[in-house]
This record gives sequence, structure tokens and C-alpha cells, in this order.
Amino acid sequence: MLPVDNHVHSQWSFDTDGQGSMAATCERALELGLPAVAFTEHVEWTDWLADDAIAAGPLTLDWWEKIRPLDVTGYLADIEQCRERYKPLRVLSGVEAGEPHLFGASIAGLLSTGPFDRVLGSLHALPHKDHLVGAEQLFYLLDDGEDEVMRRYFAELVRMIEGPGQFEVLAHLDYPRRYWPSGPAAYDEAVFEEEYRAVLRALATSGRVLEMNTKSPLASVSLLRWWREEGGRAVSFGSDAHRPWLVGGRFDLAVDIVEAAGFRAGEDPLDFWLR
Ligand SMILES: [Zn+2]
Ligand SMILES: [Zn+2]
Repeated sequence: MLPVDNHVHSQWSFDTDGQGSMAATCERALELGLPAVAFTEHVEWTDWLADDAIAAGPLTLDWWEKIRPLDVTGYLADIEQCRERYKPLRVLSGVEAGEPHLFGASIAGLLSTGPFDRVLGSLHALPHKDHLVGAEQLFYLLDDGEDEVMRRYFAELVRMIEGPGQFEVLAHLDYPRRYWPSGPAAYDEAVFEEEYRAVLRALATSGRVLEMNTKSPLASVSLLRWWREEGGRAVSFGSDAHRPWLVGGRFDLAVDIVEAAGFRAGEDPLDFWLR
């Protein structure tokens, strides 16, 4: 059986431009034979609370003009409807919380309006010269090379994991890799082994789960083995689909990679895969 898709966006995420129908996504998931999907809608912030870590610094929040608050009531009503309508598919609720270390209090407030079955933590934007800046922008803004973008990203990711924000699963751990410039040097995980291991060690110490993100270039078997070696116990699969037809994308390949690294499906299909 295919794993649960624990990272899917619907029309309730501000960056799907009204085209991420939750109902159509459930229909596609049933067709594929997925046991469950989690609608982990984007939560990013254009303001902060006094208790958020970001309040202590001079950062400006102007990095993504699309950001809108999540309509939790409307979203949860839609989840309920899909649960009724698309049995035996299990429909899980969730959020993808951006920069949780900077917005710990805001995220805690949002989660209290739940229930949310899955909480992903994501680093999409980094502090740079008094601004929060989209990670992909750093390839243009930093003049000390693309390797430096990845190193800055991994260092911030460790701060995120060790920070105060609540989340269970680390989403797309090498997110800027999606935007790696085409040129003579292809992206090579091995160049960043030390940085990956530092992130994975911090993640394992915190007892969290690593995501196999199938929208990003797929992680290698070696990378999943580093996760085991650093103490990691659990893997979550996520298509990061923003359109219905992308749910469960490349899960066949992802399953082969995760199995080759020594992780197996749990007893309950809703479980994360365990070593
Ligand atoms: Zn994301
Ligand atoms: Zn996402």
C-alpha cells in the first residue's frame, strides 16, 4: 500500500490561486489508492505578537505579498465534508507553519484554534539585512556563491529546529535546492554532508520526523541513511501538491528510496514509516 500523503495544499492555501480544490484532490487520492491525505495549509505571517522571537529584532516582513491568514473555520468545515464524502479515504487536517522559530507564540495561538492532525515546520524565508527574504532570492542577493546560500539555509534550519515553534515534521529540508541555478555545477548533496548531518542530528534530538518531499528533487538513499545514522527514527511522505493531479506524485520512487535506507511502513497505514 502507498504511504499517506502528509503534505498537500488545497484552495485554503493562499498560494494555490483558487485552483487547489480539496474535493478534487480527495477524488484523485482515492483513484491512486492512497490511504489518507493531510491538507497542510500554509500559515505565514505579516505581523507578529509581542512574544514572538521576531519581535525582538528589526526584521521587516515584506517578503511575499500573497500571504493571507488561514480561514480556520471554513477550512475545517471543508475537511469535515470531505471526510464524509470520500470514505474510505482518511482526510487529515494540518498546517505548514512557516518560520516557526520566529513566530512561536503566533503559531501556538493558531494551533489552539484547531484540531490539526499534522503540523509541518518549514523554512521558506531567512533574515537578511533587516528583512525576511524568500530563500530563493538569496541566490541573487548573496555574492559569495550558491554554496553559501545552502550553508546559510542549513544554519538557520538548525536554529529553527532548536527554537520555540511547535511542529512535528520538518518539511523539505533543502528547500533552496529547488532553485539551484542551472550552470556547470549540478547540486551535490555530498558537498553539504556536514551541514545536512548537523540539521538531521538536531532534528533527531528533538524527536521529530523527517519529510521525504516529492516536489523537491528527491533525496538520495545516502541522505536517508545519514538521517538514520544521526538517530532519526521516522519518515513522512509529502507531495507538496498545490494542484489536485499532483497528490501522491512520485511516491513509487520515494518509497523505493526510503525502503532502501531501511525504513518500513508501520502497522497502522496512518503511521509514519519507521526504522
Ligand atoms: Zn513549503
Ligand atoms: Zn507545502
